Parts: sequence; C-alpha cells; structure tokens
Amino acid sequence: MTTAGNVVVITGGSSGIGKQLAQDLCAKGAHVVISSDNRESLQAAVQELASQNCAVSSVVCDVTRQEQVDELASAVVTEFGKVDVLINNAGYAVYETYEESTIDELIRLVEVNLLGVIRCTKAFLPLMIERREGRIVNMASIAGRLVITPNATYGAAKHGMVALTRALSYELGRFGIKTNVVCPGRVETAFFDHPSFQKRAARPETRHTVSLESVSRATIRAIEQDRFLTYVPRSLGIIVWLVNAVPFVSWPLYGRLQTRRIESLYATNGSD
Ligand code: NAD
Repeated sequence: MTTAGNVVVITGGSSGIGKQLAQDLCAKGAHVVISSDNRESLQAAVQELASQNCAVSSVVCDVTRQEQVDELASAVVTEFGKVDVLINNAGYAVYETYEESTIDELIRLVEVNLLGVIRCTKAFLPLMIERREGRIVNMASIAGRLVITPNATYGAAKHGMVALTRALSYELGRFGIKTNVVCPGRVETAFFDHPSFQKRAARPETRHTVSLESVSRATIRAIEQDRFLTYVPRSLGIIVWLVNAVPFVSWPLYGRLQTRRIESLYATNGSD
C-alpha cells in the first residue's frame, strides 16, 4: 500500500510520535488530519506542519468523550468523504504503583489507552466498511507485550490493544480492512513530562531509547508492507520471544527482575 493521496487520521497527533508520523506521511503525499485533546498544542502542531508545506487539518478531540470522537469522524466525512488510515496513537502513562494510584487515575488510563481506541475505531468503521477498504494502526507499546512495573494498568490497556488489533484483523479482514500494531520501546517525548515520571530516580534502562524518526519510519513500513506486529527496535521482538519461549524458566526470572524494579523504586524514593 502507498500512502500518497491517502486521508490519514492520527489521534494524539499534536506531539511526539503522532506529530512525527504526520510530518512523514505528509511528505509521502498523504493528507493528514491530526487530533488531540490539547487545543494549544494542536494549533502549534498545525502551524509547524503547515509551514513545512504539509497538507494537514486538525480537530480537537478527547478520545474519552464519545461526542468529540463522533464529531471527529463526521468532520472527516464532511471534508474528505473517506478515511484510508486511522492511527490510534493518543495515549499516556503514569509512573506509579497500583496501590499508590487513585481509582480515577486507573480508570482514566484505560479510558484513554484502550477505550479511546475502541471508540475511534468504531466511529470510523462504517466509512471503511462501506468502501470495503481501510486500515487501522494501533500504537501500542512494548508494555503491550511484556508486563513492566510499575505500569500495571497502562500495560493492561496496551495488552488489550494488541489483543483487540489481532481479533479485529480476523473480524474485519472480510471487509478488506487491514490492521497493524506497533510496539515501541522508550521514545523521548512529552510522554515523560507527567509529574510521576519526573520524581523517579534515573534508571539504567532510560539510556536505551529509540528515536521518533525510527518509530515513524517503522510504522510507515508496517503500513506499506502490511506487517501485523512491529517492534521498534526489532530486538524487542527477540526479548518477547525469549520470555515466552521457555515460560517455566523465563517467567520466574522475569518476575524477579520486575519485583526488584519495584523494590528499588521504593528504596530510592525512601518515603514513598
Ligand atoms: P506524547 O505525550 O508526545 O503524545 C501523546 C499524544 O496523545 C498528545 O498529542 C496528547 O495530546 C494526546 N492525548 C493524550 N490524552 C489524550 C486524550 N484523552 N484524547 C486525545 N488525545 C490525547 O507521547 P508519545 O510518546 O508521542 O505517545 C504516543 C503514543 O505512543 C502513546 O499511545 C504512547 O502510549 C505510545 N508509546 C510511547 C512510548 C514512549 O516511550 N514515548 C513508548 C511506547 C509507546
């Protein structure tokens, strides 16, 4: 599949991975509609992309609000009459143990990271089914394939996202609709601006980051080559395979590693 001439909707397109994808897809000739719950950052992103001659429009949309998701879909229908690619990218995490988190925060994590994907996919689906074509790309995470502490609920939402994408690939294939899921490792974005990340001690794994450009390139390659599951970097796929290949050995070891992470978090934060 080529992206030239395509209408691509990107949720959470005002910053980070979503904005980079918007820029790179525009450069390939797509018309991109970016949306976000943050009006100011959305306006700034549109201005920046337009100054690079990107064909870009924007719609403010909080993916947890059904009426705003419906408005996003109808704005796209009105302007273009179609959607070729929906990229469910809006998401956030908090760096907090389960017992420390409030129930409102835990529910919001699922609302944004999983129910937001379900709402947006459902809103754009009739348009895709009618045309017997379309593509849904879900930006999950390595946390959608491996359990990582202290992000139980974020990880649960991202695991759900991977499972949803897999099931939809079976269900929607009969309408000619394709699905892809992308699982990046750590990418330096506003994602880590959340106060809960700011207070944590520097950890060795934070040195291992992937660039925004490589996540965007890998996502576009997944679309063009119709690859169902993409890890960025690819080496993450080997780690996932190893952890699952010999569960009797690997799960206890992996469990010990994750328990140590939590214990060291408490040790470094002292009073927490
Ligand atoms: P980011 O904070 O730069 O971008 C997140 C985007 O989502 C922003 O545009 C934000 O406005 C939007 N958003 C957040 N809540 C929203 C809501 N309720 N409704 C609509 N939009 C909302 O972070 P990013 O790193 O670019 O994250 C993009 C995606 O990549 C997320 O789904 C994240 O889970 C995933 N991811 C990030 C990393 C990483 O290390 N940064 C790693 C793996 C996966």
